[in-house]
Amino acid sequence: MKTQSNLRNYGPAVLVALLAFALFTFAMPEKPTPPSPDLTTDVDVSACASACGLPSHVDLSSGDFPVQRSETEWRERLNDVQYRVARDHGTERPFTNPYNDNKAIGLYRCIGCDTPLFTSMDKFDSGTGWPSFVQPIDERTLGETRDNSYGMVRVEVHCNVCGSHLGHVFPDGPKPTGLRYCINSASLSFEEAESPEAVKALVKEWYQAE
Ligand SMILES: [Zn+2]
Repeated sequence: MKTQSNLRNYGPAVLVALLAFALFTFAMPEKPTPPSPDLTTDVDVSACASACGLPSHVDLSSGDFPVQRSETEWRERLNDVQYRVARDHGTERPFTNPYNDNKAIGLYRCIGCDTPLFTSMDKFDSGTGWPSFVQPIDERTLGETRDNSYGMVRVEVHCNVCGSHLGHVFPDGPKPTGLRYCINSASLSFEEAESPEAVKALVKEWYQAE
């Protein structure tokens, strides 16, 4: 008899506790996921670029890089770190480079020829100390070569318009490509923009140049 009366007394309390637990579980945020780029925007810069013809001064069919500069011109255009990385296949120091932590919206251009290469919408925090992207704006303007230096087999990436070295691409990136383009800040210049739409407009401007 005593047990039954206890049940009767505690019954509603147990029900309330269960309800509270269900609400609490429902309200709990999902467990943290690894950082991935903010692809919530529906502005697809890559699709826009791929649909465009390349600017008239960029002929990638000849086998030579369309933008050629003399040694003096390169030295004038680039500072010491930029020259060592972009023209001499160097690697800058991790973490202390200018764009590793850059979270601003904008466009990353090639330091050697201003070709739009990456956008902030494809940038993610890889924890490596270098700016990292899941994809380039346009695969046509990004060249790849097998790099066997330092006893490793890696895929080197460079600007297909002026030949400047950018970094490497690794198959361990987040969604949607699973790729990690690990790029030296020294090979890039950054142009801040108000919105992803404004980034797209900057890219379009380059493609439509004479
Ligand atoms: Zn370039």
